[in-house]
Amino acid sequence: MEDCIFCKIAKGEIPAEKIQDGKYFFIINDANPVSEGHCLVISKEHYETIFDLPSEFGKELVEITKLHSKKLIDEGKAEGIKLVNNNYEAAGQVVKHFHLHIIPEKIDAKREKHV
Ligand code: 5GP
Ligand code: ZN
Repeated sequence: MEDCIFCKIAKGEIPAEKIQDGKYFFIINDANPVSEGHCLVISKEHYETIFDLPSEFGKELVEITKLHSKKLIDEGKAEGIKLVNNNYEAAGQVVKHFHLHIIPEKIDAKREKHV
């Protein structure tokens, strides 16, 4: 997909630090974080939504999400983790390339609920 920002990041055409890197997915920090450590699990290939992802990608998706979420908790950056995946415009999907939000949460944070 030529004009897809996440395809460009996946191919290295736009620089972004990959904080985790797997076979099918990588993780980068969100450009507009709703909390400290808010990041995105992004597919390396272009799939619009979770419904387009090959099901066999599911194992790595769960594993990389668990690994990084545990890291955020172990480092004290999160006490809880919110996972958000918007599919289609009506659900708030802006970037039409699969991504899963990992949103660190803290009990006493003066925050609005993120979802
Ligand atoms: P959506 O509403 O599609 O689920 O969320 C898209 C997310 O991607 C937003 O949280 C937005 O801040 C993030 N985002 C959009 N463009 C970029 C970018 O170029 N780099 C990074 N790191 N995040 C981006
Ligand atoms: Zn794409």
